[in-house]
Amino acid sequence: MTRVLVVEDEPQIVRALVINLKARKYEVDAAADGASALQLAAARHPDVIVLDLGLPDMDGVDVIRGLRGWTRVPILVLSARHSSDEKVEALDAGADDYVTKPFGMDELLARLRAAVRRAEPVAGADDDVTVDTGDFTVDLAAKKVHRDGRDVRLTPTEWHLLEVLVRNTGRLVSQKQLLQEVWGPSYGTETNYLRVYMAQLRRKLEADPSHPKHFITEPGMGYRFER
Ligand code: CA
Repeated sequence: MTRVLVVEDEPQIVRALVINLKARKYEVDAAADGASALQLAAARHPDVIVLDLGLPDMDGVDVIRGLRGWTRVPILVLSARHSSDEKVEALDAGADDYVTKPFGMDELLARLRAAVRRAEPVAGADDDVTVDTGDFTVDLAAKKVHRDGRDVRLTPTEWHLLEVLVRNTGRLVSQKQLLQEVWGPSYGTETNYLRVYMAQLRRKLEADPSHPKHFITEPGMGYRFER
């Protein structure tokens, strides 16, 4: 069961969130201020946190900083429409995504599911840390790629992209998911970045970069890594 911590001081919003989340079989804790949010997070280890930035006792961004000192739990921020600086500050402090108030419950639930999904370890990812394609070998633990007995030098962005694809071997990873995982939660439409970096990965790793066997484009959708 997925446990959600709702941090919000407006009772109507808390009530709506609790009803909707419980109806979808989430377990829900609620905190009305930052101090109890930090306490509840430590005591209950939620799988995801929905955090209002405007809290009575402290700035929501400071709650994020407090959480990021010890946990990587996904944080979905609720922010008022006018405060885009605050939104950027929250993302910089380590929030994963945001929903602007007033929000639709369907949108919030979709973003919540996505945040939880991104945080889930891929089955077998921990014990299967080396992937051998025949053309090259990816060592996820050592963060290295070998080809023909030599290390292939990848930039951090190339590595991150490769890692996300390899951890999802055989599965379509959407353009948006790749952009958000590699570049950050505020990205999603910059598909030209993906074309550029995917071309670099193919040039460095594919035997025939113009006919890729491992880095497959699903036109209009995303990319798939095949061993
Ligand atoms: Ca508030």
